[in-house]
Amino acid sequence: MTAPQPKPWIMGIAPYIPGRSTTDDGRKVAKLSSNENPLGTSPAARDAFASAAGELERYPDASGAIVRETIAATYDLDPARIIYGNGSDEVLHLAAGTFAGPGDEVIFVHYGFAVYEIAARRVGATPVIAPDKDYATDVDAVLACVTERTRIVYIANPNNPTGTFAPRDEIARLHAGLPGHVLLVLDHAYAEYLDAGEEDGGMALAKTAANVLVTRTFSKIFGLAAERIGWGYAHADIIEAMHRIRLPFSMTIAGQRAAVAALGDQAFVNHTRAHNARWRAWFSDEIGKLGNAGLRAVPSKANFVLVLFEGDVTAEQAYRGLMEKGYIVRWLPGQGLANGLRITIGTEDETRGVAQALRELVGAA
Ligand SMILES: *Cc1c(COP(=O)(O)O)cnc(C)c1O
Repeated sequence: MTAPQPKPWIMGIAPYIPGRSTTDDGRKVAKLSSNENPLGTSPAARDAFASAAGELERYPDASGAIVRETIAATYDLDPARIIYGNGSDEVLHLAAGTFAGPGDEVIFVHYGFAVYEIAARRVGATPVIAPDKDYATDVDAVLACVTERTRIVYIANPNNPTGTFAPRDEIARLHAGLPGHVLLVLDHAYAEYLDAGEEDGGMALAKTAANVLVTRTFSKIFGLAAERIGWGYAHADIIEAMHRIRLPFSMTIAGQRAAVAALGDQAFVNHTRAHNARWRAWFSDEIGKLGNAGLRAVPSKANFVLVLFEGDVTAEQAYRGLMEKGYIVRWLPGQGLANGLRITIGTEDETRGVAQALRELVGAA
C-alpha cells in the first residue's frame, strides 16, 4: 500500500515531551515541572489580556508594533531588529529554518534545551552534541565541534535543564572563536533571573556583531506562558531573512496587550526574581544537607534546580515518590538525565513541601 512518506529526518525526531500537570492517576498536584512563575502573572497584564475579549473577530497587528516598541524602550534596542514568535520556541525554529538545511551541522551542548535538536532535525541538518563539563557548558568543547559545515550554535544561558551559567568572559571567548559564517544563538529564557550586572553580554554582542541572535521569552519570569510570546534580537540582515518564514499572526491581540503591560510592571518582575533567588538558595542548601543520601544540587542561576541522585534512592524512585506525595517534577531520561530531577522553584509552601518530601523519601526525616 502506498502512503505519503514523511521525510526521513522528520522520523529521526524524538517527540517533545512537555512537563506534566497531573499524576498517573489523574490527580492535580503541585506542578513543579515546567518552570512556570509560581507567583502567577502581573495583575496589569491580566487586565490587559481581558481587554481584548471584545475583538475576537479581528486579526492582530502582524508586525506586533506595540510589543516591539515597548521591548525596545525597556531594553534600549532598535524595534526594527526585534522579531517575535509563538514563544521563543518559534524564534529558535526560525533560526534553523533560515540558516541550516541538509548537510549542515548545528551544535548544542549535552544536556541542552530539547528544542534545539528538534529544530535542527526538522530542517534536515545534523545535530552535533558538545560534551559538558560537570553538566555545564564547556566553551572549548563547543569550539572543538565547529567545522566549515557548522551553521548554528545554540546555547541556553542559563541553561535548561541544568540551570548552569556561562559568564560573560566565556561567552565572549565563544563568540571570538566562532567563524563569521556561524550564527550564535544565545537563548536568554532565564536571563531575567540573573542578578543585576551578572548578564552574559549576549545582548551587547547581538547589538554589534553580524552573527549573534539573542532570544527572550514572556513565558518565564513574566508569567505569560499561556500566551506564547517570545522574541529575538540580531543584526538587521538576520532578522530580515528570518521574517520571510515567520507565521504572520502568531502573537494574539490579547497577548500583545498583556506583554506590553507585563513589561510595564517591573515591580512584579523584581518581586519574582527576589522570591526565586531566596527559595532557590534555601532549596539548594536543603539538598546539600542530603549529601549523605547521594543527593546533589547542580548550581543554578535559573528558576529551577537540577537535583542529582547518586546514592541508594534513584531519581526515578524519587520522581514516583514525589508524585505520590503531591509534587510533579521533571525526570528527563530521554535527555540522558535518568539520574536527575529538575525541580521548579515554587511558592514558599511548595518549595518547603517538596524539600520535606525528598527528606522523607531518602529516609532523612
Ligand atoms: C522555557 C524555555 C524557552 C521558552 O519557551 P517559550 O516558547 O518562549 O515558551 C526557551 N528556551 C529555554 C531554554 C527554555 O527553558
